[in-house]
Amino acid sequence: MGAVESVLEAGGRCWLVGTGTDDALAALHGAAAHAHLAELGPYAPARWAAWLAEQLPAGATVVLPHSPDGRDLAPRLAAALGLPLVSGVVELGPGVAWVARHGGLAMDELELTGPVVATLQIGAGRHPEPPAGASAPEVAHVAVEVAAAHDGDDDGDRHGADAELVAELPADPATMDLAEAPRIVAAGAGLGDRDQIALLEAVADALGASVGATRLVTDYGWLPAERQIGTTGVMVQPELYLAVGVSGAVQHTAGLGHPAHVIAVNTDPSCPMMELADLALVCDAPAFLAELARQLGL
Ligand SMILES: Cc1cc2nc3c(=O)[nH]c(=O)nc-3n(C[C@H](O)[C@H](O)[C@H](O)COP(=O)(O)OP(=O)(O)OC[C@H]3O[C@@H](n4cnc5c(N)ncnc54)[C@H](O)[C@@H]3O)c2cc1C
Repeated sequence: MGAVESVLEAGGRCWLVGTGTDDALAALHGAAAHAHLAELGPYAPARWAAWLAEQLPAGATVVLPHSPDGRDLAPRLAAALGLPLVSGVVELGPGVAWVARHGGLAMDELELTGPVVATLQIGAGRHPEPPAGASAPEVAHVAVEVAAAHDGDDDGDRHGADAELVAELPADPATMDLAEAPRIVAAGAGLGDRDQIALLEAVADALGASVGATRLVTDYGWLPAERQIGTTGVMVQPELYLAVGVSGAVQHTAGLGHPAHVIAVNTDPSCPMMELADLALVCDAPAFLAELARQLGL
């Protein structure tokens, strides 16, 4: 994110580090004129900063994208190089940086008295010129010592500490981004009243599913707006979609993607949601929830 802009801002001179640097160079679409590539392994900002500080030319200003990784790496690199950090730059000129403050409401003009490490706001409208000869970049593959590339135990003294990956935990369906949820139990107005929501949430939790809603349900305030699925809500891509008391209006179903399994619960056998379903249960939504909860041992 923001790599092309940063490389263009640097006049096409760049260091690509990490894994898959050849692919990363190809993804720059000709923005690079002179590229150094180094396979440093998985992201480890303290180790990378220490290594990069030994490679980068003295006295150079370094620019990184103001992306999550860029914001993380830049201060460590600034410390390792002994340079000031200028974060969130909108525009960088000779001896000057313009930085957005207060969420973009104000602009600060900073005088630069020497080289800095800067992170560049992505998409801030700069228009740097593409470097001449960009289609055939000069590429140097930089050999990396095993110690610099490894991601195992760090002694921590020279690099500072890198976070140790203890375990990767699955996302909590209750709080994960609905757009990425593999299973969704959706609440529709057919639930009757907000008292049913707690039971629907408990059932969703037991099924490892996230809770979605129709616009009527969020308009009623039974669930927050970020749970609304559809053209004016979240576009989802679940594998399993369980619609409880949902009519299946086109503004809702247009946001559903193509779930492998659709189950609909409705008293109206001919509503659009039932027609979309692989399994259509013609029954009362609160009664269905109560029975499912019982079957799940809740
Ligand atoms: C510009 C615009 C944008 C919109 N964007 C969205 C959007 O992003 N997302 C969205 O969801 N909607 C959106 N809507 C609203 C949409 O048109 C529908 O009004 C809405 O999706 C209906 O929600 P619902 O299915 O919960 O309610 P209803 O349409 O009222 O359906 C309730 C269903 O529950 C059934 N039912 C009733 N009683 C029971 C019972 N006891 N047991 C079981 N079933 C029962 C009924 O048969 C019915 O099918 C938008 C509308 C407009 C105009």
